[in-house]
Amino acid sequence: MTVKLVPLKCPNCGSVLKANRKDYLYRCEHCGTFVYAPTGAAVDAKIIDFETLLQSKRYYMPFLTYLTEVEIYSEEVRGFFKERGMGGRWLTYIPGGGSMPSEEIVRWSKLLTSNPPRNKNEIGSFRDGAPLPLEIEIDEGEKLAEFVFLSYEVDRPGVLQGINYRFRAKFNGFVYLPVYYDRGYMLGLRGYGGR
Ligand SMILES: [Zn+2]
Repeated sequence: MTVKLVPLKCPNCGSVLKANRKDYLYRCEHCGTFVYAPTGAAVDAKIIDFETLLQSKRYYMPFLTYLTEVEIYSEEVRGFFKERGMGGRWLTYIPGGGSMPSEEIVRWSKLLTSNPPRNKNEIGSFRDGAPLPLEIEIDEGEKLAEFVFLSYEVDRPGVLQGINYRFRAKFNGFVYLPVYYDRGYMLGLRGYGGR
């Protein structure tokens, strides 16, 4: 991250943003606009409400979302070469907070990408806990989205030896999801296992 010597200002109302921790995403206290620190631009961010009740610390975890489009031209699995000519489109979720190791990032990404948190209750503020700092930049998340796609392909039956594909991921905004912390993070939404 390039260090900015000028104070970060809200592009909507001009208020100076309190940038006092390592975080790529800020919310203007005056007008509520979310500001992406590396560019200083206003970005779209949703906040999703808790659905479960646990006696653990509550936070909101920032996720980067990407409209993902993949076309697989051909694939070679254990010596068998086959033309695929298929692919698909979906929304990839990348967890951007909580200082997760890469295998945890992939696990959370697969969990939410395969079961997107649609039709959840959106709220207007971080009313039940603090937002976790965004630690992953948009460009970095795009590379992770491709990494997650490839890990899906590797997990399928057979030994993947080669793949020829085209991958595109277009950033589609941030979503803060409710999480509990108790030695590890756990989603505060129904339908994702846990207690
Ligand atoms: Zn503002």
